[in-house]
Amino acid sequence: MDLKLTLYGLDLEEAETFAKAGKVPAYRGRQLLEWLYKKHIASLEEAVNLPREFRDSLSAHYDLAGLSFDEAGRLTGLESTKFLFKTRDGHLLESVLIVQKDRKTVCVSTQLGCKIGCPFCASGQGKFIRNLTAGEIIEQVVWIEKQIKVRVTNVVFMGMGEPLDNFEATMKTLKILQAVWGLEIGARHITVSTAGLTPKIVEFVSRSEGRVRLSISLHSSNDETRNELVPINRKYSLKELMETLKKIHRDLKREITFEYTLIPGVNDSNKEAAGLVRLAKTLDTKVNLIPCNPIRESQFKSPTPEIMEHFRSVLLKQGIRATIRQTAGRDIRAACGQLRLDKLQ
Ligand code: SF4
Repeated sequence: MDLKLTLYGLDLEEAETFAKAGKVPAYRGRQLLEWLYKKHIASLEEAVNLPREFRDSLSAHYDLAGLSFDEAGRLTGLESTKFLFKTRDGHLLESVLIVQKDRKTVCVSTQLGCKIGCPFCASGQGKFIRNLTAGEIIEQVVWIEKQIKVRVTNVVFMGMGEPLDNFEATMKTLKILQAVWGLEIGARHITVSTAGLTPKIVEFVSRSEGRVRLSISLHSSNDETRNELVPINRKYSLKELMETLKKIHRDLKREITFEYTLIPGVNDSNKEAAGLVRLAKTLDTKVNLIPCNPIRESQFKSPTPEIMEHFRSVLLKQGIRATIRQTAGRDIRAACGQLRLDKLQ
């Protein structure tokens, strides 16, 4: 299926180049981006200060958007809403809005499916289809912002897919999110989460100048278990990952966070906690503990609140900053990628 490029996803250079190529002043390119990223237009007809010929020329070369809303559901017990979008080629993807006081965080997806294949994650179970474009990633924020009518303050790359496996689209999205001509969200309000693609982590930190927050999906403190839970560990071992992170931490003094999905009988032992303490101390890392959200495709169970609290208390006693993050509720099949997977069945 041969699809046109979309206007959402353009950066300033591309918009100005397109304008100049059509013998239109470059500032029209900037005006276009204002309509997209500040006013979130759903039709080029709304961009009333752009000359008719420029709009016609844009329509001839581009589609406006790559996503349409499919479904949104509120998650019980949490101020969270899960949004399901449909791409132009008919695929589904998910984003979550989490509202905590003044903070409005959107969790974006970066791929349709995920090649990493973590066995506790719904995204890793379905077939990998393709990378999302920068336009499709940025639109998740744009359409949610338009829907809720207030500014999104934070963005986390923790939805479906491995952001650093869709590297250029992720980097371009980060640029649009931060730019004054874009969504103007500060780098410290953006977090990219990775399963641990070490060469790409280095490139990501260098290209984002260490400003965007980095989070590592750790899930185990030993190679044997991590090889099973996060299969990319077979390629980039914990030793390699930690050496990379130590260097980043030493050179940039930047805070790194560990995400740790707690699965009873798999990675909740005192030995695992001790290993996690050792790794976290090395980097002065904060740990987010996430209760495993059972998916139909695996046998993993959800931990009880007691298991969560016990594991956290072991970390706290050793001076590790550890929080328990609630997962988006289970009642609407909210495990990462699960809503999409359900729709495919
Ligand atoms: S947990 Fe993340 S890296 Fe692992 S399969 Fe799911 S989306 Fe991919």
